[in-house]
Amino acid sequence: MSDEDVKAEVEYWLSGRVYYTTTRGDPIARALAHVAEQIWSEHCEALEGIRAIFIADAAYPAKISCRPWEAGKTLKVLILPCDADESDLPGLIAHELAHIVLGHDAGGPEREKEATALAEGWGFKVPDCYSPWRLPD
Ligand SMILES: [Zn+2]
Repeated sequence: MSDEDVKAEVEYWLSGRVYYTTTRGDPIARALAHVAEQIWSEHCEALEGIRAIFIADAAYPAKISCRPWEAGKTLKVLILPCDADESDLPGLIAHELAHIVLGHDAGGPEREKEATALAEGWGFKVPDCYSPWRLPD
């Protein structure tokens, strides 16, 4: 698949899935497209399984808003916090997409480490502050 084809497919993928509850979501949408383009050829099937992506305001607690989860058996939703630092976005997004690619349906330190390892394997630096097992309670 050419780079142009990947860009077009990712743009189409995003167009049907991203919802904003904030006007500050554009940097996140751009970072999301960037990360998805890097992993699209290998993981488009898993990404297409995500039913909705909400770019939400800080009204959502960061610990919750960083996590993808399943509601029922088929609906995968990803919520991304708009208050993250722009430089952290690619790593944060790659970590969250890694959970989905890995088929995680719950949290826990082992799954967090797996998601970070996969995201870093894709070449993204996952910020420490988005690795919940390193957060103080
Ligand atoms: Zn995680």
